[in-house]
Amino acid sequence: MTTTPDPTTRLAESGARVTGPRRTILDAVDGLGGPFTVEELCAAAPSVGRATVFRTVKLLQETGAVCRLVLEDGSVRYQRSEGGHHHHRVCSECGRVQEFADAELDRLIHANAEVAGFELDGHSLELYGRCRRCA
Ligand SMILES: [Zn+2]
Ligand SMILES: [Zn+2]
Ligand SMILES: [Zn+2]
Repeated sequence: MTTTPDPTTRLAESGARVTGPRRTILDAVDGLGGPFTVEELCAAAPSVGRATVFRTVKLLQETGAVCRLVLEDGSVRYQRSEGGHHHHRVCSECGRVQEFADAELDRLIHANAEVAGFELDGHSLELYGRCRRCA
């Protein structure tokens, strides 16, 4: 059985110090539950300055504790993540975002870039629709 390290553990492992504000922001992230905007996170952690919230979100993103996703309307949100490279299924009804990894899909994406002579730095993929519960 594998366990996913919590964000605090991941931060510690990445060498970043888990400071008071970071702890506060992680708690706020957990409190928000689903995908959130940085503005919502600022509102959920009023004791932490905006600049610190922005910096911490970036740090959490780098350590894989949260990931960035783009909704169908183009707005950017963040959510708690299992980490690692993955894609998203975004439900337009309940707003839930499922993470999934698909090695075959990644293989096709790399092959596509290669055929086009495109030097690929990375990719992100969001599927929009309704989840099993909402369909
Ligand atoms: Zn994700
Ligand atoms: Zn749904
Ligand atoms: Zn991929």
